[in-house]
Amino acid sequence: MARLKTFPGGLHPPDNKAWTAAKAIEICPLPEELIIPLSQHIGAPAEACVAVGDKVKKGQVVGRAKGFVSVPVHASTSGEVTAIEPRPHASGRNLPAVVIAPDGEDEWVDDLAAADPEALSVEEIKDRLRDAGIVGMGGATFPAHVKLSPPGEKPIDTLILNGVECEPYLTADHRLMLETPGKVRQGIEILRKVLAVDNIYLGIEANKPDAIAQMREECAGSDIKVEALEVKYPQGAEKQLILALTGREVPSGGLPMDVGVVVQNVGTAAAIADAVTLGQPLIERICTVTGSGVNEPKNLRVRVGTPLAHLVEQCGGLDGEPSKLIMGGPMMGMAQLTLDVPATRGTSGLLIFRRGDIKVREPGPCIRCGRCVSACPAGLLPTTIAAYARLSMFDETEEFKAMDCIECGCCSFSCPSLIPLVQTLRYAKGAILEKRRKMQ
Ligand code: SF4
Ligand code: SF4
Repeated sequence: MARLKTFPGGLHPPDNKAWTAAKAIEICPLPEELIIPLSQHIGAPAEACVAVGDKVKKGQVVGRAKGFVSVPVHASTSGEVTAIEPRPHASGRNLPAVVIAPDGEDEWVDDLAAADPEALSVEEIKDRLRDAGIVGMGGATFPAHVKLSPPGEKPIDTLILNGVECEPYLTADHRLMLETPGKVRQGIEILRKVLAVDNIYLGIEANKPDAIAQMREECAGSDIKVEALEVKYPQGAEKQLILALTGREVPSGGLPMDVGVVVQNVGTAAAIADAVTLGQPLIERICTVTGSGVNEPKNLRVRVGTPLAHLVEQCGGLDGEPSKLIMGGPMMGMAQLTLDVPATRGTSGLLIFRRGDIKVREPGPCIRCGRCVSACPAGLLPTTIAAYARLSMFDETEEFKAMDCIECGCCSFSCPSLIPLVQTLRYAKGAILEKRRKMQ
């Protein structure tokens, strides 16, 4: 049998997806309060354009985009604006948010404009994506209209749809492909038109055979290549996915467009379909709520702005005292201090672990086993870069290509001495960026 496509390095953490892989998506009821952060994308935060006391409708813009690399944010139900103030945010800080008390009517704005993508120009489609606040839903939250506007000297000939979902525990994209394959396909066809490409891949890890079969059936008769990929973390990272599917290597410091590729997540493709054909902004997403600390793990369709505590309630509440909360997956997600943080457009999962399930041990000395080097999918020397970073020798960390680190965590995960390598690499990258800023 032919070997499945993949990339060098990486590892095989237990996937723990069985808890939710067979759980159909449930609609999460509206909470008592929606907290819509003005910053939930890469780029400039939106600027509030409503006032306390205003009545808003579902889909109404409550924060305007500020600049090209920015998107508006929208009310995710109808109701009254009760506050515009800093609230707990996934970043760990308190950041400005528009707070809405739902009125229970869930009434859409009147001016949603359905359209036939065939009748729209490429620029009109991109305008619709910007106005709908479409961002990368795999977690990167980069505005889609920007990603779909590469400079003229970077011609794009390939589109890759990312249905890999290699992070352990998460099954949101898996369920999306199983339950709404037509939406994903519709989004792919819109992306095909925008990028004017016919070389299209949909990559899915081989541990989702039902989703692979479903998407192959949906794409039958088209030129879309639905590829089963080896189950290996981080198969879904952009550079690793491009290498696995096309054999093209994104150069050090480069972007996918440098090798003629645009990558979009399957959830983003589905949101693009709704934005272009129905005129609907991005006000909800699928989120996997799972882990040993939650009574009934589920996949939920969640309104943007729903407090994490409300998601937990829909899953039967906490099972014991939680010791760790993570927004996203366990490898690249962000640890959270409170369940008061709201779900945003990038919230693919909420993981909760019970006290006792997380083993805390002190790191030991490096025993030079080389496991971090073998595991690094970016071909780096994590132990060497971390050693320089600990000595604040950031020029040396740059020479050893610290900026190519994708922060996948494979080095830390594989280290028998539990050395916090990814955290040190992240610190080095921050110091390098700071130095570059000062030199500008
Ligand atoms: S150095 Fe960066 S890219 Fe390499 S394994 Fe560690 S976190 Fe991943
Ligand atoms: S995996 Fe840990 S112990 Fe082994 S070489 Fe890397 S840093 Fe050292």
